Amino acid sequence: MTDLAAKLDRVVEHLRTAKRITALTGAGVSAASGIPTFRGTDGLWKKMKPDMLASPEAFAHDPKLVWEWYDWRRRHVRDAAPNGAHDVLARWSRERPGFTLITQNVDGLHERAGAARLLRLHGSIWHVRCAQPCPAGAVEWRDETVPFPTLPPRCPHCGGFVRPAVVWFGEPLDPDVMTAAAAAAACEVFFAIGTSAIVYPAAGLVQAAKRLGAFTVEINTEATPASALVDVSLRASAGEALERLALRISGSHR
Ligand code: NAD
Repeated sequence: MTDLAAKLDRVVEHLRTAKRITALTGAGVSAASGIPTFRGTDGLWKKMKPDMLASPEAFAHDPKLVWEWYDWRRRHVRDAAPNGAHDVLARWSRERPGFTLITQNVDGLHERAGAARLLRLHGSIWHVRCAQPCPAGAVEWRDETVPFPTLPPRCPHCGGFVRPAVVWFGEPLDPDVMTAAAAAAACEVFFAIGTSAIVYPAAGLVQAAKRLGAFTVEINTEATPASALVDVSLRASAGEALERLALRISGSHR
């Protein structure tokens, strides 16, 4: 038996009896769908600095440039499809009442795979809101226009610029979403999947889960700061590890 197979069996032992399971996902889960990660070997940020584009300062300085980047990402994601990792997580979220899916991803692929009760920590690139105070206020709305005919797109209420309803660097997370995510860290099995585990407060959820007694599992193609902390670190792609776990749970592997 390979090292990975033995580790998968250990995780399955815990999954079989666990009532409360939580999974935190990051950009690595969408890598097999062709969506670039920020910090992996092919990471987007290898070519561009994050604060040059994903920050309130960047938007104030050059909203058109920021929107060109988001417009490109929306086009790229629209043409992509959920992969096996999204499918397994979506199935677990629908079939296991105690399963909570938390994502840092903004691409909407968990939703397209049919995930239930998804907690989006960093918002969605498919939602926008007015960038200034206006009658629409801070209320976001879904807009799937791809590409926008003119950039930056304009608010239908006040004519000012709209911005992507995502959490940019230096911005706070939605407190209700964060509270729900923190509550879900109190579970029996906690997965950190395809995340570099360095962006807080999301990364702190792994530590919280461990402290609260969860059996913690990392799935990542590379080592991260969480690797030494977790009970089992699976060095594999999200799709391979989750599909093999799903097969083992159903008893039909080999
Ligand atoms: P990250 O880019 O910092 O790290 C990605 C991690 O995934 C790396 O540790 C890498 O080793 C791992 N990885 C790469 N391919 C993998 C695979 N096939 N299977 C398993 N692991 C794989 O991503 P993060 O930790 O989510 O960073 C946080 C920020 O990046 C978030 O704010 C998120 O909004 C943003 N982001 C989102 C997307 C998206 O929505 N798809 C894409 C890029 C960045």
